[in-house]
Order: sequence, then C-alpha cells, then structure tokens
Amino acid sequence: MATRTPLMAGNWKMNLDHLEATHLVQKLSWLLRDAGHDAASVEVAVLPAFTALRSVQTLVEADDLPVRTGGQDISAHDSGARTGEVSGAMLARLGCTYACVGHSERREYHGEDDATVAAKAAAAHRHGLVPIVCVGEPQEVREASEHVAYTLAQLDGSLAGLGGEQVAATVVAYEPVWAIGTGLTCGADDAQEVCGAIRARLAETHGDAVAAQVRVLYGGSVKPSNVAGIMAKPDIDGALVGGASLAAEDFAGIVRFR
Ligand code: PEP
Repeated sequence: MATRTPLMAGNWKMNLDHLEATHLVQKLSWLLRDAGHDAASVEVAVLPAFTALRSVQTLVEADDLPVRTGGQDISAHDSGARTGEVSGAMLARLGCTYACVGHSERREYHGEDDATVAAKAAAAHRHGLVPIVCVGEPQEVREASEHVAYTLAQLDGSLAGLGGEQVAATVVAYEPVWAIGTGLTCGADDAQEVCGAIRARLAETHGDAVAAQVRVLYGGSVKPSNVAGIMAKPDIDGALVGGASLAAEDFAGIVRFR
C-alpha cells in the first residue's frame, strides 16, 4: 500500500505583504523546530501572495526552513500576452513545489470552470509543479444531498486530460464551499464520505495504484481543535488551511495534529 506523507498547506489568500509573510514563515519555523517537527513525517507548505513568494523563498532557502512554497494560482499558458498572469515556469524558477488551482474563490469570483482548472493543472505538471486541485460543493448542493455526485463531476472535469502519472502526482483538496472561512466545519465523517468517494473515483478512472498515491486534503475551517478528528480518517491526507494558517501558533498546532 502506498504511504502518503500528510500535507498541511496554508492558503494565505490576499493577506500578508512580503514583510509580514517572511515574519510569519520565520515564526512558524521556530515553533515547529522547538516542537521537534520532523519534516519527513508531515510536509508543510505555504501559498503566499505572488508579491511575497520571492521573499519567502529566499528566507526558506537561506535558513533551510522546513516549509515548501506554492502559488495560489497559475496561468494555463506558458508565456506571452497574458497581462496579470504568472506562469508555471516563473513559479518553478522561484523554487515553488505547488500551485493551487480551482479554489472556489477563483471559480466563483473569476468564472473559472472545470476546463480552465484542468488546463491550469496541466500547466503545473508541464513545469514540474504539483497542482493542488480544489473541488467541493456549495451549500444548496449539500442541502439537496447531491454533494458527492457534484464533487465527483468537478473532479472528473478538473483532471480531464491528465495521464495516470500526472494524476498520481496531483493533490486533490475537498473544500465544501459552505465551510470555507465560515467557521462551519464539515464533520470528520462527512469529510471522509467525500474524500473516500474521490479516491474510489480515481481508482475507477486511473486504477488502484494511482488512487493510492494521490493525497486528498480536506479544507474548510480547519483549526487545531478539529484537525485530529479529520486526520484520523483513512482517506484524508492533510488539510488546506485558510484563516488558521495566518497565525503561526494555530498553523503549527494543525501541523502537529497527532
Ligand atoms: C481555504 O480558503 O482554502 C480555506 C479552507 O479557508 P478556511 O480554512 O479559512 O476555511
């Protein structure tokens, strides 16, 4: 059976300028080191704003901090006349490991559909980055009990065109929209229901070996107080954390979920 290293990824969204971002990553690293954090047993990543990535990466490299970095978004294109976009080549050159794609805020406020998300995931792979592909249902879909079918359709569309090796090297984040930034956490059993369905669908579409390698994260109001229950579930391999990743103590508490 594949061993999946847990991943705790902090999505800082449009918060923290480059000075605040370096301060936070330094403080987080100190807390983790003081607590004897073993980087091989839980991977930690932060997704700063593009303006802060270079400063964070310089600090991480200079001080050999146990933190990986990623972009909150990535262009589907590799270069050229795409004003405002940041390419996978640029992120890779900065030493990023990850690129988040299809976050519900991108889907909702920037009109990104599954085809766009799939093109961005492919762009990440072209440049050796690991896409963190976000999927998850809005409240009305959950209330209609259609959340599993809805999320699986998003998953299929968002991974369309990727080969098995690329899917195996993709992170999927199940983020029910109604739980993001609201304080409403999906219960651990409910999160497992969908994360388990995601893995089962990946097994159907790409085979058991691929499905066993994919890390499936849960995201939506994860905090130090609820992370242990979520991480106890067999198909949940980590968390995508928004609000709580902006406070070093809280994020360190989430990383030390055991
Ligand atoms: C997110 O934005 O991906 C997220 C999960 O946010 P929060 O943890 O604040 O709900």
